[in-house]
Amino acid sequence: MTDDVHAVLAAKRAELEAEIAVLTAPSGDLGGIGFGKRVGEGTALAVERLSQVAAHDRLRALHADVLRAQAKADDGTYGVCDGCGEPIAADRLEALPWATRCITCQARRA
Ligand SMILES: [Zn+2]
Repeated sequence: MTDDVHAVLAAKRAELEAEIAVLTAPSGDLGGIGFGKRVGEGTALAVERLSQVAAHDRLRALHADVLRAQAKADDGTYGVCDGCGEPIAADRLEALPWATRCITCQARRA
């Protein structure tokens, strides 16, 4: 099971890092929006940027969870809640292999 976890976490981490790279890539090819722009275009762009920032924040948070889960897998505490030290439910780990807190502690943090 440990090998599986490492593989799952490594794959998720690579996936997240690719998504973050896309979001943080220089947006120089947005299609010459700076030229002849009309009122409204800038607003739409700002909204687009905001949703990208939100997506980015979410990806960064998830990425941090995956890194933490990888560290836990390495030091043998994988599957143990960071908050209360109790085992994380197996079905939760199955759904979220990078979960580092049990549902109770996760809810408390949120
Ligand atoms: Zn807990």
